This record gives sequence, structure tokens and C-alpha cells, in this order.
Amino acid sequence: MAVVSNDIAPPPTAGPPECLFCRIVAGEIPATVVHQTPTTLAFRDIAPKAPVHVLVIPKAHYPDLTSLAEADPGLAGEVLTAVAAVAKAEGLLGDGYRTIVNTGRHGGQEVFHVHAHVLGGAPLGPMIAR
Ligand code: 5GP
Ligand code: ZN
Repeated sequence: MAVVSNDIAPPPTAGPPECLFCRIVAGEIPATVVHQTPTTLAFRDIAPKAPVHVLVIPKAHYPDLTSLAEADPGLAGEVLTAVAAVAKAEGLLGDGYRTIVNTGRHGGQEVFHVHAHVLGGAPLGPMIAR
């Protein structure tokens, strides 16, 4: 029988066990990985909104941009650096691309493990649909 101890609090970067993107990092859910570093992972969005649609995440769990930036600004920078590397690897530098980090209810965030969308490969239209 497995012994479960509640004596030791999980480290702040451990996500809830049901976190979808933590499970992708752990290899429990398949994803098409296009880039990774020791601290970041980039994989194709399952429902792409543009010809290129990649999600870039820190491997450590932070629910949103605010919590990541406040706890580890260096890691936030590594996520942005990975965004640029993905854009380059996907051939987006010539025509450009868009990076979106949705936060909270008004931002339309659906997965609460911070992620940057990298979108490109076609004109993306106005920044916000009205
Ligand atoms: P949000 O709305 O939180 O900014 O974006 C969440 C994104 O995660 C959506 O674009 C959605 O298509 C993507 N997504 C949701 N579930 C999965 C999954 O299981 N695998 C992958 N690769 N992307 C997912
Ligand atoms: Zn997570």
C-alpha cells in the first residue's frame, strides 16, 4: 500500500496533480514538443488558431504570469527567450508573429499553468475582436 505523507508541504513550483500542463511536462499526456530547455517546454496547441500555434511554458508550475513574475523573474525571462527561439525555429521572423499570455477571467485564461501562445504563419487580424 502506498504511504502518503502530508507532513511535508510540496515545493511552491509543484502543481496540483490534475494540472494539464504539469502532466505534459511529466510525459503523462502526449504533446508535440518543438523546443525545450532545462526550464521551459514548447509544444503545439491542440486546437491551433493559426498555421503556427505553439504554447511555451515554464516546466515549474505557476498558475499565471503574475505569480511567475513575482516569484521568479529570471524564469519569466527564460520563457520569453524560449518564445523568441520558437518563433525563429518556426520561420516566423520574416513576417512576424504574436505572443499572448491570457491571465484570469477577463483575459480568457483556461489552463492555469502559465503559458505564452506563439501565433503566426498568416496575418492575424486585429489584436482584439470586438
Ligand atoms: P488559455 O485559454 O488558457 O490561454 O489557453 C489554453 C490553450 O491550451 C488553448 O489554446 C487550448 O487549445 C490548449 N490546450 C488545452 N488542452 C490541451 C492539451 O491537452 N494539449 C495541448 N497541446 N494544448 C491544449
Ligand atoms: Zn502545472
